[in-house]
Amino acid sequence: MSRDRCCARCRESTSRTGAPTVVVAVRNGKDVYACADHRAELAGPPGDPVVAIAQLQDMARRG
Ligand SMILES: [Zn+2]
Repeated sequence: MSRDRCCARCRESTSRTGAPTVVVAVRNGKDVYACADHRAELAGPPGDPVVAIAQLQDMARRG
């Protein structure tokens, strides 16, 4: 199963700073990733537990 970690807006897989993209929302059961530039734009409601779980799972996959 391929996982797309590109920013949902600009399709970059890392921020300009070199930091990896992060899960900022979950839409239709799919993780939505964003670089630092587009994080605020793409983020879902703050404190969404689904997003928190998705972030933990993403960390675990990065191992
Ligand atoms: Zn972006």
